[in-house]
Amino acid sequence: MRWTRAFIPTLKETPSDADIASHRLMLRSGMVRKLSSGIYNFLPLGMKTILKVANIVREEMNRTGAHELLMPVLSPAELWKESGRWDVYGEELMRIRDRHKREFALGPTHEEIITDIVRREIRSYRELPLVLYQIQTKFRDEIRPRFGIMRAREFMMKDAYSFHENEESLQETYMVMHEAYTRIFRRCGLSFGAVEADSGAIGGDVTHEFMVFADSGESEVLHCVCGFSATVEGTGVEVPEAEGPKDPEAMEKVPTPGMRTVEEVTGFMGVKPHNLVKTLIYTCGDAHVAAMVRGDREVCETKLAKVTGLVPLELASAETIEKLTGAPTGFTGPVGLKGARLVADHSVTVMTNMVTGANEADTHLKNVNIDRDFEPDLVANIAVAEEGDPCPRCGESLSSYRGIEVGQIFKLGTKYSESLRATFTDPSGAEVPFVMGCYGIGVSRTVAAAIEQHHDGDGISWPISIAPYEAHVLPVNVTNDKAMALGEQFHKELQEKGVETILDDRDERAGIKFKDADLVGSPFRVTIGERGLKKGIVEVRVRETREQTEVPVDDAVSTVCKMVDEARREFNLD
Ligand code: ATP
Ligand code: MG
Repeated sequence: MRWTRAFIPTLKETPSDADIASHRLMLRSGMVRKLSSGIYNFLPLGMKTILKVANIVREEMNRTGAHELLMPVLSPAELWKESGRWDVYGEELMRIRDRHKREFALGPTHEEIITDIVRREIRSYRELPLVLYQIQTKFRDEIRPRFGIMRAREFMMKDAYSFHENEESLQETYMVMHEAYTRIFRRCGLSFGAVEADSGAIGGDVTHEFMVFADSGESEVLHCVCGFSATVEGTGVEVPEAEGPKDPEAMEKVPTPGMRTVEEVTGFMGVKPHNLVKTLIYTCGDAHVAAMVRGDREVCETKLAKVTGLVPLELASAETIEKLTGAPTGFTGPVGLKGARLVADHSVTVMTNMVTGANEADTHLKNVNIDRDFEPDLVANIAVAEEGDPCPRCGESLSSYRGIEVGQIFKLGTKYSESLRATFTDPSGAEVPFVMGCYGIGVSRTVAAAIEQHHDGDGISWPISIAPYEAHVLPVNVTNDKAMALGEQFHKELQEKGVETILDDRDERAGIKFKDADLVGSPFRVTIGERGLKKGIVEVRVRETREQTEVPVDDAVSTVCKMVDEARREFNLD
């Protein structure tokens, strides 16, 4: 490809609204342009990379025996109502009406649609297991779209679904997918971990998230030397007890004028945050839940939704809080609270003489004790886990790292096949629901995650497996006929040898051409300078290490080919 014939609108300036490296560099290298909040145009350079990732995903899925299909983006509301998710999915589900006022969702994921296909076509256990997948644009009306294509409202996903006769068969496929995901992310040049996670609104029990290590990642992962790892929302890790028991003392009201936050109240009362219990009211339709966690901890909404069965949960409005507690926000407590289900984290039940809100304006209570002063309706693990909490397997203290979730695999069980009445005939002749699994990869997010791991101050440094171009030929001065002719020759020969090459044939200042080359990040560059030419040499440069070697003109193409071959071999996992 010649740069002058390509469409690579690079930017010199750093865009002001981009706050992580991948977002900045995708804009600057001309890979993407924003159309609207969380909605992006993929320009040719961006599209090339997306297609490379998609092809790796496709190859590895095909290798497992999965079959590619394509389901519509528009999915009729009836199917979502049948599964119950029309209500449960909440505001993230984009909904539209057609001219006949029929409702549709823009697909955020396709469990309902695939289950509908299979329930109509598959009759017998003899046709199982079956794994189907697609690579397609998905829609989610994210509350906070950010970081460019990392958390977008329209993005590219690979979603696969498996159908089984029984749990053993699901387990087998689950492991095959785990292995396929490992190969996919390795082939994309990523460092990552697979961690136990929470299944959220999708449902099911067992699930793993594939996390690309990156400080800019939105997920926090806890891990242990024994091999255990889980997201901070994952079940299993419990908040350890903060202090030994004290004898219960008499409960007392304390005036706390205008003090709402944990910091304000504990500072004013001279107690530690772990002696206070915060009580947060959530709503789901007409139902209300009061969640109690220690003052030094946060409520995990995913866990709370799971233990209460209420999805989606939202923090209650100021009006609702006032109506339920008789006090403004910031003074809620468990004593005498009615109209909300009281759910306490395990760590709260071992506390004595706690400080809580009094359900009265400008007032808190001290020396509140469980059983004597209030009784929770449910005790469960509802707090966000933290670094330093004990490992649920071995008790060691957990460490944490940040990651980007690029993929997730779920064992769904019969959640969708039951609600959608999708059954088959088992070997005994009985009609039973399919056992299902589902497996997602954020194809576009994977591109952004790769940039987070492969960049430096000057730009992107692509792993060769997903680089838009493998080699970059740069004649410094295109008005020098000899240099330009050589550039043309290298470009042609490299292309013929199967190396994807871009020739920067622009009549631009050398500085601009070098900067753009570093920005778009082809792994190898051949620089044809006038001074070198006089000696019959050109420079071959490795983008990642910035190592530069002078090679005779006649060896340039073979040197680059050798380097490309070696680099590709690193990603060839056979
Ligand atoms: P997240 O927790 O980041 O919102 P999720 O758990 O809701 O993601 P899944 O339903 O597991 O996402 O979707 C499968 C994959 O799709 C995710 O692992 C992620 O890589 C990608 N993905 C999900 N939401 C987005 C988004 N808004 N923009 C880009 N990619 C996304
Ligand atoms: Mg997920």
